[in-house]
Amino acid sequence: MVVSLGNGEEALFWKDHWIDGARVVDIAPNLAALVSKRHDNSCSIKEGFGGEWMRDCGPNLGAAAVPEFFVLWNAISDILLSPDQEDVFRWRWTADGIYSANAYGAFFAGTTMAPVASQIWRSRAPYSCKFFAWLASRNRCWTADRLQRRGLPHPAACPLCDQEPESIHHLLLGCVVTREI
Ligand SMILES: [Zn+2]
Repeated sequence: MVVSLGNGEEALFWKDHWIDGARVVDIAPNLAALVSKRHDNSCSIKEGFGGEWMRDCGPNLGAAAVPEFFVLWNAISDILLSPDQEDVFRWRWTADGIYSANAYGAFFAGTTMAPVASQIWRSRAPYSCKFFAWLASRNRCWTADRLQRRGLPHPAACPLCDQEPESIHHLLLGCVVTREI
């Protein structure tokens, strides 16, 4: 089941698939391993956003979990709760999100999160690269289009080609200079 986040009161921070279809353990396995079962089963996403998740896993993180702490911090920093809506749990293997017996077979196929998330987080790339790929896939890099939306100073055109507006899509795929490289 994946969670469409509402007020965050029902979905569980550590257990449910709520970060673009992924669980915390998919993104930050070493960090998630530090959390006790009791907290695992009780910390709602709303409580997590109130700071509970940092108490659940701290204070002695260890070398493996420290970078994951920041990865998780960043991965959830743009996620907003909708206080007037309830969390909705959707069945991920049917288009309408409603359970069907056929789709039940897919439960055992081993696919438990969004394909892109799985490819990124399970790769052997260094964390900085995984994190960049994650941000790029979510269109959350601080390129000119994003800076503009937030009313921040930004270059008028792509600094590489000076022809088109800078966006992460342009920088990685569209830019003539990138394609040369
Ligand atoms: Zn360009």
